[in-house]
This record gives sequence, C-alpha cells and structure tokens, in this order.
Amino acid sequence: MALRNIRRQGDPVLRKKAVPVTRFNEQLHRLLDDMVETMIKAQGAGLAAPQIGISKKIIVLRDEDKILEIINPEITESEGESIDIEGCLSFPGLYGEVPRSARVAVSGQDRGGREIRVSGEGFLARVLQHEIDHLHGILFVDRAVRLYTPEELQNLARKDKS
Ligand code: ZN
Repeated sequence: MALRNIRRQGDPVLRKKAVPVTRFNEQLHRLLDDMVETMIKAQGAGLAAPQIGISKKIIVLRDEDKILEIINPEITESEGESIDIEGCLSFPGLYGEVPRSARVAVSGQDRGGREIRVSGEGFLARVLQHEIDHLHGILFVDRAVRLYTPEELQNLARKDKS
C-alpha cells in the first residue's frame, strides 16, 4: 500500500466527470487499498478517486469503524433535508454549511464487481452525497450556503454552547 497525494482546490482533475470502472482487477484493488490508507492518514471521513488525480468512479468512506468501498456508485433514492457543516480534504481549513438529503440509498459494486446497495442517514448520508458529487466534478463549495474559516467555526461552536 502507498499514500497518494491529495489534490487541492484549483486542480483541474477535481472538476472532471469521472468515468465508470469496467475492470475489477488487481490494479483496482491496489488503488482501493491506497485510497483507504490515504483517507485514514489524512483523517478524512471519505475520499473520491479524483481527489488523488484518478478520474474514475470510485469512493471510499468510513462508517463508524467500518470501511466502505463503492465502485460506480449512483444515488437511487433520496429523502428529507438536512443542513450541516462539512469540509473536504481538498480544501484544508475551509468549512461550509451544506444542505443535503437526510437519507439516501446508493447502488454500486464492490471490489469484486458484485452489486451492492448502501443506505444511510445523517452523517453517512452526507458523506455519501459529498463523495458522489466529486465523481461529477461538483465540490462542496458549490452547494454551501455559507463558508467558514476554522476561527469562525470555533466562534460558532462557542455561541452554540452559551
Ligand atoms: Zn471532498
């Protein structure tokens, strides 16, 4: 396994539409292992392949202590609405208030090419939508209704407590 470089805001690969994966081979498995390692090292909740410069439909994410890998993910159902703060490994030090669906169901494939279905709500639903957006060249700043620096976020948390 190897750590990959995370592409930052302004890198054109983040705006490209990713292509579907057709070969479920050793090369894909190595890429998935690297993505998981890179996500964990960066303390991210999820990572999409374009974020390491690979314009393919692949996402990995953490669901509590479980790792999810979804190849060619598509949102098949979405329901409700939720606004919360999120960030992105490609935008260090920036946070935004982003409206998302509260619950989603996603279909895709596992690393062996078998059909899988993942459904989630709350934080998991948010991460799924954020990562799938990356595959369409959409970034959280496009959807954010407000952006925050870390200092502003801290002030906000302080206000919430008082
Ligand atoms: Zn992101």
